[in-house]
Amino acid sequence: MNKWTRRGLLAAGGVAGVGVVGAGGVAGRNFLRDREPLAPAAQDAEGRLLWSNWSGVAHAYPAARTAPQSEDELSEILRISPGPIRPVGSGHSFTALVPSEGTLLTLDNMTGLVSHDPATHRATVRAGTRLADLGPALAAIGQEMVNLPDINKQSVAGAISTGTHGTGRGIQAVHGSIVAMRIATPSGEIIDCDRQTRPEVFDAARVGLGAFGVVTQVTLQNQPLNRIVKRVAVQPTEEVIEAWPALRQQHRNVEFYVLPFTDHSVTITNDVTDLPVRPRGPDVDTETLMALKQLRDWFEFTPSLRRRIAAAELAKIPPEEVVDEGWKLLSNERPVRFNEIEYHLPIDAQIPALREVLNAIETHRKDVFFPIEVRVIAPDDAWLSPFHQRESGSIAVHAYYREDYDFFFSMVEPIFRRHDGRPHWGKLHSLKARDLAELYPRWADAAEVRRALDPQGRMLNDYLQGIFLDD
Ligand SMILES: Cc1cc2nc3c(=O)[nH]c(=O)nc-3n(C[C@H](O)[C@H](O)[C@H](O)COP(=O)(O)OP(=O)(O)OC[C@H]3O[C@@H](n4cnc5c(N)ncnc54)[C@H](O)[C@@H]3O)c2cc1C
Repeated sequence: MNKWTRRGLLAAGGVAGVGVVGAGGVAGRNFLRDREPLAPAAQDAEGRLLWSNWSGVAHAYPAARTAPQSEDELSEILRISPGPIRPVGSGHSFTALVPSEGTLLTLDNMTGLVSHDPATHRATVRAGTRLADLGPALAAIGQEMVNLPDINKQSVAGAISTGTHGTGRGIQAVHGSIVAMRIATPSGEIIDCDRQTRPEVFDAARVGLGAFGVVTQVTLQNQPLNRIVKRVAVQPTEEVIEAWPALRQQHRNVEFYVLPFTDHSVTITNDVTDLPVRPRGPDVDTETLMALKQLRDWFEFTPSLRRRIAAAELAKIPPEEVVDEGWKLLSNERPVRFNEIEYHLPIDAQIPALREVLNAIETHRKDVFFPIEVRVIAPDDAWLSPFHQRESGSIAVHAYYREDYDFFFSMVEPIFRRHDGRPHWGKLHSLKARDLAELYPRWADAAEVRRALDPQGRMLNDYLQGIFLDD
């Protein structure tokens, strides 16, 4: 998204001569709706400090918090700490994977590059490393990760544990680049695994939800450092949808954001280039997002006017092009908090499902203003990967953190389910063990490995009991 500014919108509302009327009609409702959610207490009755996730929907008061400096120390902690023992990365998951009233464990002291091989472009990294720190560290040795998600705040372990992904032709999610992994089990044993050594642990725990043990380091198959050209353009949604199969073939990375109630979408493509560097400017996505919110606030109950004004403003936005190394361009800042549901669908179901979701939102939820994100991900063979053995098209629906997201479950998720979707492990969904067993052909094998590594379920919090034991 780019230069559609709040000022441009205000002017558009004024020119239409309806801004004040629109504002008057909904001001009361928006005043009531647009409020900071009630924050949980900073500490509980026993003085335990609050932990909460990025969006604020998941929280807990852990009895113990720990940040080991070494694998030896970690093993000891795993042996003696009260359960549930929950590893945390940067707390950017929306689902309640992390909350624990027992032990919260971070690898913030186990970060950085361990070693690398210039010939194969492989690098071994400690699992607490944040993606944002890994980018420059890899660039310094002439490497880059194969792809990156929309933000780079995640830890390496947190990203792989939920199947975090970007978008792109033939490009797998982050865990698809792992060639070897080291994990400390709940009993404190350290296991090195890859496709030859302990392959069952490698297959089950690569996307492991932090339920198989604590990943301490991974070896990533990276690629030589590239420069890419990133192009952002606003186009009518129908044109984007029609071009989508071709766009997916033409570009290394491609995605689009549908802007509901505007008939327009923003496409973003990235391709390897020799063009000279043209760095990205200051981030304007937030301003665009707040402009969309304002348009909603004013014209929620006059959707045709909302559509007309938005379409006129959006049509004026020129395409944008920047050139730089991929790690500087692929991820973005997301200062406006939100909640999110994302499902991964068989690729041929993606556009039919998108049309249903868009139609349902535009018919029943005129309060929605957040863009809907559409991406593609290549298959892999990790047993709990949502992309297991199938090329996937993802669809993500967001809700402003101050506003209700019940429609994720009542309206959006049933559409995804009808299209055989698998939920993103880190994003909101309502599935339990029985549903998941039907979606994952190797579910029973993964469950058996989990039981063998953690027979007493010391790493399972309430949420994970629902995921693994509710059958
Ligand atoms: C603004 C925003 C943008 C996002 N964009 C994307 C995107 O583009 N693509 C995408 O796929 N997802 C995206 N996500 C989701 C996010 O990538 C995932 O939820 C990811 O798991 C978060 O990583 P984290 O480091 O914060 O891990 P946490 O959320 O802290 O933990 C995630 C899981 O990893 C486990 N874990 C953490 N450390 C370890 C360890 N050392 N060993 C074993 N398990 C561990 C935890 O127990 C938990 O189960 C986004 C989220 C937000 C808030």
